[in-house]
Amino acid sequence: MTIGWHFDNTYSKLSETFKEEIKPIPVKNPELVILNEQLAKELNLDFSNISQQDLSKLFSGNILPEGSHSIAQAYAGHQFGHFTMLGDGRAVLIGEHLSNKNQRFDIQFKGSGRTSFSRRGDGRAALGPMLREYIISEAMHALNIPTTRSLAVVKTGENVIRDQFLPGAILTRVAASHIRVGTFQYIAAKQNLEELEILVNFTIDRHYPNLQKSKNKALDLLNVLIDKQSELVVNWMRVGFIHGVMNTDNMAISGETIDYGPCAFMDHYDPQTVFSSIDEYGRYAYDNQPKITKWNLARFAECLIPLIDKDEETAVKLATDAINNFENIYETRWLNMMRDKLGLFGEVKNDKKLILDLLDWMKINKADFTNTFCYLMNIKLGKNKIYLNQEFTNWLELWHKRVNLNNLNNKHLELMKSVNPIVIPRNHKVEEALKTASEGNIKRFNDFLKILQTPYENKSNILDFQNPAPITNEKYQTFCGT
Ligand code: AMP
Ligand code: MG
Repeated sequence: MTIGWHFDNTYSKLSETFKEEIKPIPVKNPELVILNEQLAKELNLDFSNISQQDLSKLFSGNILPEGSHSIAQAYAGHQFGHFTMLGDGRAVLIGEHLSNKNQRFDIQFKGSGRTSFSRRGDGRAALGPMLREYIISEAMHALNIPTTRSLAVVKTGENVIRDQFLPGAILTRVAASHIRVGTFQYIAAKQNLEELEILVNFTIDRHYPNLQKSKNKALDLLNVLIDKQSELVVNWMRVGFIHGVMNTDNMAISGETIDYGPCAFMDHYDPQTVFSSIDEYGRYAYDNQPKITKWNLARFAECLIPLIDKDEETAVKLATDAINNFENIYETRWLNMMRDKLGLFGEVKNDKKLILDLLDWMKINKADFTNTFCYLMNIKLGKNKIYLNQEFTNWLELWHKRVNLNNLNNKHLELMKSVNPIVIPRNHKVEEALKTASEGNIKRFNDFLKILQTPYENKSNILDFQNPAPITNEKYQTFCGT
């Protein structure tokens, strides 16, 4: 086969503490469901001459490409606040692929069978959740939000047992790396300083080579992650994305969004929105996401203490100061992001009030988050009496006045169009696409995927995808899909 794999595996060369050597467990009757040709191109991989049957074998792990060295990675994590030793319980990293531009990508199979980290799990995944990760991660990428990508999904030809029998599947995930906050927690919990230092150096070499010469690598790495993660969560807030399970094992050091389990997009604006069925207390609610980001970063900082300074008190002070800076960084970024969403140039003292007044109005009136910004951009929507409301009209007047400050040639619309999506993966549309795909018809899924590829473009065929779900008494719920 001349696919173009160029494996250069470095994580698998780390000591036994970091991973388990393991092959994907073969599956009975693999069948390719979807292949991301665009992503393949970006990776300089060419699958065009490979038969459907061979693709199925390849993306199920029944045959491994030459040069791969498969491992399950060890990590720990705070899951809903509780510390646990975890690791890839249903995934294997088959290798690190280099693109022609020498960019390094982890190629990982998710749902590939049991590993020594599986605990009580079966090591497998169901088709619905893997297709869900595929469509939402690709939508996030198109929204210009850092994320892991999805290269392929195969059905395994085996059933998995959840609360019912479901078709099994394997997702091929592509990531800058799978190093997580939880990876640092795992190594730190082993209390081996040498290995912790190895991990810091490995991470810096891989993701932040500009820190190679830094005088305090651990502290600088902490500061970089604070920067990356504050940027990421502001992006999530911008589009109304709710990750749903922001455990420390699901926070990547690369700054990419990772692990699409119970995530979903907010429809009507309510800062307390939670979709995940297991998030009983709203720990990972929309508005809590920045606070949890900070909490996770504090757990990251704790791992690094022994490397930040030999004197523990000094180290704790340096790390605490860094973490306490998070609010400032986040707040500044969030305010600027909201200014962009409203097309405001420059900074005016009352901007924050203008923004918060709109959000309050949206909350009280259950206005759709995405569509309210579309309305401000003069995008055609379905019937919407809500925007005739007097309070909104009063707010509009103030907004118009503010927009016209520092605004040359109506440039505000351009700014708004670059940050306000017109189509997002609305929950009811995702469910529709997954339902028909699970029944064997992938067309609707593919059509939706195509629409989600250009979320900022106002096209003629998207009205059906803009409307929020009809309001029912039933609250939309998501599940981990484990
Ligand atoms: P997640 O909720 O996907 O972030 O997974 C949390 C942990 O549970 C990770 O260690 C996973 O590898 C593991 N896990 C999730 N589902 C399964 C499964 N079906 N079998 C074995 N391990 C699993
Ligand atoms: Mg996870």
